[in-house]
Amino acid sequence: MIDINKIRKDFPIYDIQPKLAYLDSAASSLKVRSVIKQVDHYYMSLGVNVHRGAYELAYEATKLYEDARITVSKFIGAQEDEIIFTRGTTSALNLIAHAYKEILKPGDEIITSELEHHSSLLPWMVVAKKTGAKLIYIPLTKEGRITVEGFKSVLTNQTKVVAITHVSNVMGYKTPIEEIARLAHEKEAIVILDAAQSVPHMEVNVKELGVDFLAFSGHKMFGPSGVGVLYGKENLLNSIEPFEFGGEMADQVFKDHATYKEAPLKFEAGTPVISGAIGLAEAIRYIESIGIHEIHEHTHQLHQYTLDKLKNVEGVTIYNPTADNPVIAFNVDDVHPHDIATMLDQYNISVRAGHHCAQLVTKFLGVNSTLRASFHVYNNIADCDTFIDSVKAAKEFFLSF
Ligand code: PMP
Repeated sequence: MIDINKIRKDFPIYDIQPKLAYLDSAASSLKVRSVIKQVDHYYMSLGVNVHRGAYELAYEATKLYEDARITVSKFIGAQEDEIIFTRGTTSALNLIAHAYKEILKPGDEIITSELEHHSSLLPWMVVAKKTGAKLIYIPLTKEGRITVEGFKSVLTNQTKVVAITHVSNVMGYKTPIEEIARLAHEKEAIVILDAAQSVPHMEVNVKELGVDFLAFSGHKMFGPSGVGVLYGKENLLNSIEPFEFGGEMADQVFKDHATYKEAPLKFEAGTPVISGAIGLAEAIRYIESIGIHEIHEHTHQLHQYTLDKLKNVEGVTIYNPTADNPVIAFNVDDVHPHDIATMLDQYNISVRAGHHCAQLVTKFLGVNSTLRASFHVYNNIADCDTFIDSVKAAKEFFLSF
């Protein structure tokens, strides 16, 4: 059992906004004090570049940055040189897709799904257009889930890439990725997992999942924005072309060509996101100090509590009552989701309204947009009660016209 009062004190936003009921963690989590302090420490006490200087400050900054890589690698069960710091999930997934522009051929197949966030889908649309490869969608169940059976029905000898989400940011469904990866590897396809929504909520071990590449963002797990991670199997990383070219990634440079360092530096051209990486490592230490299972248990309870109450509110449609992640996609019948979200804001409740950068999901649901309430470790029962009462009040207000 976590001590929620103690946890809320770790998030300085509550000092300024004690009434805040923040239910938009699937978009970005609140930021923890220790992370802010660690980022501050880098800027206040170091502030210099990494990998370059032959002076004490540079050594210290480099050590913090490279230690952050080790912290991340242990957190997801990878090797240190399999961790690339990026700007976020989006840039990590684009990096990989870009590399496959040079590898895929006409007729090759890329398996994806309608559950994808645009950052796991649009890069592959571009790759398909450029190479002549085909985008193939896993048929979803009625509920909207990816299943092994659905995957098997589209897996062929032409499948070269499987690029899917671990957990949907709208529906909160978890993909049975272990079995999917195993089947994909039988066809020698590579598996790229968008783990932006899973890493902040559950234990993720890349070796156990069996994926080839995996991406996530710091800002959804109490870390800074502007930093993310691309995990890649060492041999694969060393066999693909870099995305960006510039400082610190080259080995030898000649007038007409250059050679590159090995991963991870090959993929970190230019000055990297130093403060971001250092902050992300601190965020991981924070998660570990509470325990990812404890976090999961706490948010699961809040999720169930809220779902049970919301189900009893007449005129509310819940699209994902069996979600695995603590996220509720819903609408108030006959009221535009943006109107509800704006009204909830009057009660200090932050929820998201829209297509959540996953338009194929809202299309699958047959709507233009939904509301989304999502929970994390700092939420408490009072947040859930305020939310339910305010949804009821907003509904009454709009339907009274
Ligand atoms: N994939 C999923 C499932 C997401 O939820 C998000 C963030 N909404 C992203 C990718 C993109 O992450 P970022 O904006 O941090 O690059």
